[in-house]
Formats: sequence, structure tokens, C-alpha cells
Amino acid sequence: MNNEAALVVFSGGQDSTTCLFWAKKHFKKVYALTFLYGQKHEIEIEAARSIAEKAEVDFHVMDVSFIGRLGKNSLTDPSVCMDEEKPSGTFPNTFVPGRNLFFLSIAAVYARERGINHLVTGVSQTDFSGYPDCRDAFIKSLNVTLNLAMEEQFVIHTPLMWIDKAQTWALADELGVLDLVRYETVTCYNGVKGDGCGHCPACKLRREGLEKYLSRKYAPQNK
Ligand code: ZN
Repeated sequence: MNNEAALVVFSGGQDSTTCLFWAKKHFKKVYALTFLYGQKHEIEIEAARSIAEKAEVDFHVMDVSFIGRLGKNSLTDPSVCMDEEKPSGTFPNTFVPGRNLFFLSIAAVYARERGINHLVTGVSQTDFSGYPDCRDAFIKSLNVTLNLAMEEQFVIHTPLMWIDKAQTWALADELGVLDLVRYETVTCYNGVKGDGCGHCPACKLRREGLEKYLSRKYAPQNK
């Protein structure tokens, strides 16, 4: 296994783009794997492709559209109207059941074929929006399962697990890609690049984080 290479599960959004540049800092060779799962917005794939090109990493798109068809959710089904707020006691309908389970399992097989044992994902327990497969316990459990399933020593890296959106912006800035992340990624559930539509839950979370980070960065005591 190659300790100098890492595979990033890469969507072209704020979090995974920050992870892509984090991986570039820590590994000699970086691969980006993007999943096509029936997102309503092809613009996400195009953004991912163009960022990967700029980052000069190996880029691959894999069609896993069956995931979107297994369950009903607002990210892949145009007939489902997206929850603007997280409903209490249940998942927001932007939840795609099993998404990270499928993504990371497929990523591990893909990585194994190329002799890579480091996997990187942008999940965060801090801002996990109610998605259980973004939590640390799930990632650790899956890591063990993948190792047992393939008798390998995969290491799943989660640089964002314990940081919030403002700290994720700080990390992007530290990595020298604040503007790239701000203007070229697509986080918005309505598929609007950069600052996004402004009113979906992903845009709200992203904007609040950015405002918090920028106000700290430009606070008088930091000048
Ligand atoms: Zn939006």
C-alpha cells in the first residue's frame, strides 16, 4: 500500500474542496473521486471537474445513480420539495440514506485497486445537519468494517469532523484557497455556484460560517 497517496471523496462543495487541498498538503499524490448519484444539478459535477483541474489532481467521476433511486429525497427527486429548515425529530428530506456508506465503500474499493490506503472525506459531526452518516462513530465503525472486508489497512481521514463552518473557512484560508472555495464551489442545494441561492439550509450554514470567520479575521484586534 502506498502511504504517499490519498483518495478524496470529492463533490466540488466547500467541505470536500477544503479537504482536497488539505490532502494536497499532506500527501504526494491526490486522487479526487466524484459520485454522480442523480443530483439535480450537473453544475456540481462541472464545478468539481474544474476545481480538480486547477488543483492538478487525478479526477474521476463514477455513476452511482442507483443510490438516489433507492429512497425518496429532495436532492435527487424533482418531485420532492426541499425542507428549508430541519424538521424536529426526523431527518431533513435532503438526507440521502446510506450515501456516505456507499460512497466510502466504493471509494475504498477504487483506492485498493490503485494501491491507496488513505481516504479523505469532508464529513463533520459539528455541522452534521442531522445526517447520521456524518458522525465520527459511523466513520470509525466503517473504517473497521472496510479493513475487515478487504483485509486492508485503510485510514479514513476526516479533517473537518470536529470543526464548524467558520473554522472550515479558516482552514481554507490557511491552505491559501479561501477565494477558490468561496467562488468556485457549489454547496447550494439549488445548484447555484459560489455564494449560492442564499436561502437553502446549505447556503445559510455556509454564509453564517463565512460571516463569522471574516468578522474574526478582520476584527480590529487582528489588525
Ligand atoms: Zn442555496
